[in-house]
Amino acid sequence: MADLLATLREWVRTLPLLGPFLLRKSGLAQFPPPVPIPPFPTTEEPRPGQIITINPKDFPTPVGFTPTPQAVALLHGPQTVWWDNAYPVSQPYGCTSFPVEGHNPHHNECPYFHEGIDFALPCGTPLYAGRQVWVVEIDPPGYGPPGNSAALHLRDMEDSPDWDIWLYHMADYAVSPKQLVGRNVLLGHSGTRGISTGCHVHFEVRPAGAPYRLSRDPRFLLFAPGLFTP
Ligand SMILES: [Zn+2]
Repeated sequence: MADLLATLREWVRTLPLLGPFLLRKSGLAQFPPPVPIPPFPTTEEPRPGQIITINPKDFPTPVGFTPTPQAVALLHGPQTVWWDNAYPVSQPYGCTSFPVEGHNPHHNECPYFHEGIDFALPCGTPLYAGRQVWVVEIDPPGYGPPGNSAALHLRDMEDSPDWDIWLYHMADYAVSPKQLVGRNVLLGHSGTRGISTGCHVHFEVRPAGAPYRLSRDPRFLLFAPGLFTP
């Protein structure tokens, strides 16, 4: 019986795109317990203007992962699985001296808090799904001036517990709300809409469903091709 279940689980897992989703819904998935966020694969915290490079060997392809037809390449570039090439960090995650970021009551250790990492991508840079994601909503109010909100709200479909991934300031979108998107699929292009002083992308991660100001350091989803693959 155990063998049969294992065989069934393995078959479902290899279904293109829907595999992890069906496993989650069916209860067949054997997710390991949450693990601590791995250490950032450089010796220093990122600083504004710093080019981050990673060694892909630090984040090997998850055991048993079968690329879907749309996810042939797991790593786009040396910096992250979400875009090609490497760009400067224009503002790191965490405490900042920029009043525009506002105060976070969960971080009283500093006056202002930046909820994501800003990368200085030129406007029009293609952005790809670094994970299998569900498109929750596009441009919900509250992420820019009225009528010019600019936030792509994604839900990670590979992880347990779930995480929400937010990309701000994009110029356009190639996906629609309520769409399941496989790895490596084009999401749209970077821009400078919303509250922005220049072309860049803001990459933010929160526990699924959590509101603004409950962000986590997003680097584990920027750089890891998959940490909790069943
Ligand atoms: Zn930002």
